[in-house]
Amino acid sequence: MSVISKRVLVTGGAGFLGSHLCERLIDAGHDVLCIDNYFTGRRANVAHLIGNPRFEIMRHDVTFPLYVEVDEIYNLACPASPIHYQHDPVQTTKTSVHGAINMLGLAKRLRAKILQASTSEVYGDPTVHPQTEGYWGNVNPIGFRSCYDEGKRCAETLFFDYHRQHALRIKVARIFNTYGPRMHPQDGRVVSNFIMQALAGAPITIYGEGTQTRSFCYVDDLVDGLIRLMETGDEITGPMNIGNPVEMSIRELAEAVIELTGSTSELIHQPLPHDDPVQRQPDIGFARRALDWEPKVKLRDGLKRTITYFTALREELQDKGGRSNG
Ligand code: NAD
Ligand code: UDP
Repeated sequence: MSVISKRVLVTGGAGFLGSHLCERLIDAGHDVLCIDNYFTGRRANVAHLIGNPRFEIMRHDVTFPLYVEVDEIYNLACPASPIHYQHDPVQTTKTSVHGAINMLGLAKRLRAKILQASTSEVYGDPTVHPQTEGYWGNVNPIGFRSCYDEGKRCAETLFFDYHRQHALRIKVARIFNTYGPRMHPQDGRVVSNFIMQALAGAPITIYGEGTQTRSFCYVDDLVDGLIRLMETGDEITGPMNIGNPVEMSIRELAEAVIELTGSTSELIHQPLPHDDPVQRQPDIGFARRALDWEPKVKLRDGLKRTITYFTALREELQDKGGRSNG
């Protein structure tokens, strides 16, 4: 079946998820314009795409207006790990809110379809379990995580107001914890932290008792879900949960990482960060029905691929360190 080639804008395209998305869109025959301000993203994530005639990359901050011509927009620009989004919380809110306004304005001028990378954080510390899209959430509006949670909630509001007021074609994906190759090794997220610690033989840092739960989705499954959502008809706007419903405790994750790396690292406990959600699991019934989608990659397989990536990255960094010392 031949694919109609589109011009697709991916904001935050040099980040973890964005780089995989750019790659998949190019493989599907589309032209991709990737924009990024490199706050957490890296050119190395898309180095293999540079030189491909279907790929273009531009340094740009979404808090400023952008004038380009495209058919579809995936708005992913925003730091996603707690240490990065709390580093400059005012900028985080600006990125979500001003970024959404700028990208929605662009979509309105072009009559382009636009997808927002929203988050399970809109549910805050949820009192409904598993989380369904109808749940309004339990979010602290003035805490350390609020710049991210409330910024993303406001972006969702803007998407739905543009949809109602300007008949814009929108898609809102609520992404749950996703992991895989090209995660930032120092972003403090649990999967990258545990693997980097295990490979170094350093203590594995469990925050709190490790009984809090998360549900981890492998990046390929997530990107597949995002593309399927973008391809749905105008009647489907979301919000739609995209994630893997297999839930586990953080302690179980640590044990799996130790086993798969063959590490001798010990488990240590550190204080739980502020407003750390106690449990999180997506109800993906809507995505199953509307997209005929569900995650395929099992946690152990996804972790093995991620461990392979971080092992190679560590060797590369050690080589560079050795050369610069020598
Ligand atoms: P990431 O930090 O690797 O990627 C974000 C990208 O956005 C980076 O390349 C960064 O440099 C760029 N960026 C940040 N601020 C920008 C700005 N003002 N202008 C232009 N570019 C900017 O994180 P990720 O995990 O790839 O997340 C991508 C998106 O998915 C984010 O919007 C995030 O909120 C959302 N999300 C991710 C997860 C997850 O588990 N990975 C979960 C929920 C939601
Ligand atoms: N976490 C942990 N040790 C770490 C990093 C994170 O125990 O070294 C915990 C963190 O407190 C949270 C869970 O792992 O309960 C997921 O954290 P992450 O930052 O990856 O994502 P989020 O909290 O946004 O889901």
